[in-house]
Amino acid sequence: MKVLASAKEAIENFSMPDKVGFGKVLLPIMATCEFKRGEWGELEIRPYAKLELDPTCKVLHYGQEIFEGMKAYNYKGNGPNLFRPLENFKRFNHSARRMAMPEVPNEIFVNAVNTITKMGENFIPKRSGESLYIRPFMIATENNLGIKPSEEFLFMVIASPVESYFSGGSYKVLIERQMVRACPGGMGTAKTGGNYAGALNSGVRTQKLGLHQSLWLSASDRKSIEELSGMNFFAVIDGEIHTPELTETILDGITRRSLIDIARSKGLKVIERKMSIDDLIEDIKSNKCTECFSCGTAAIITPICSLHEESGERYNVKEEFGPTTKMLRETLLGIQEQTVEDQFNWVVKL
Ligand SMILES: *Cc1c(COP(=O)(O)O)cnc(C)c1O
Repeated sequence: MKVLASAKEAIENFSMPDKVGFGKVLLPIMATCEFKRGEWGELEIRPYAKLELDPTCKVLHYGQEIFEGMKAYNYKGNGPNLFRPLENFKRFNHSARRMAMPEVPNEIFVNAVNTITKMGENFIPKRSGESLYIRPFMIATENNLGIKPSEEFLFMVIASPVESYFSGGSYKVLIERQMVRACPGGMGTAKTGGNYAGALNSGVRTQKLGLHQSLWLSASDRKSIEELSGMNFFAVIDGEIHTPELTETILDGITRRSLIDIARSKGLKVIERKMSIDDLIEDIKSNKCTECFSCGTAAIITPICSLHEESGERYNVKEEFGPTTKMLRETLLGIQEQTVEDQFNWVVKL
């Protein structure tokens, strides 16, 4: 690994605005590593800068791209620490295989993430809910319009100091009955830009209706609940926690898996199963379903207060921010911020 002197200088001269928002302020450094002629080159830490790409480069035409989203915490200066970074590394290479991209060696991924985090340590906000949002990604950089996998790639890590993504509000969710996010045999389990691009049209309709998120249903039966565009879905029914079982069309969220483990460790029953939207609507109407929430790295947990049809019909969930949702959110954030004992050994201190 090579850390350019100009990168150290960039960090030394960096001053952070008081309000950082989410994903708007970036650390003035980035990690880059090129893949060429069948092998990975040297990892470099350099000043944050624009990329120069040839207009024929394959990512611009065929969408050969993958990414990850992870966080480093420095609550009250007791970090920096990462949350389950190995899981992000494994999923990155799962995405790489699906998108016909080379796997990134553990050493390159870990060095890039750790070095960017350590160098940016002083700029990780320290209040509860705040963190450094880390974005590893890889793009196809070979220059020609031929439709075949690129033979050249660029792996990068950038990072953004973020305030709490959680506004204290809850989501109103559109039941997406027109379009699908993923199909069997497709790329739904890969974190690739195309999945997000395909979800944007639904996002626009959702916004126009004054709602916040789309809830996707299975392509096979148009009935089974899958997830939101970038978050997994949970419901509390009769005091038990239900979430759609993982299939080849649902992204295997690390937050989802962590919440299942936390809930079970607290003696709660968690049921991973096929969840029909019709049954859920009935359970919401009869108040058997008392809480719904979404989860992902960025917002951790956001309660869902209502489900909506495009026709305007709505189903209000009994509790807007219920006790199970609250307990799970506080426990997970507590582990991440090291105010709750990390019985699962999820936190990696740097
Ligand atoms: C990233 C992502 C999630 C959440 O995964 P986490 O590992 O919990 O951040 C859920 N669904 C989709 C489609 C995603 O891209």
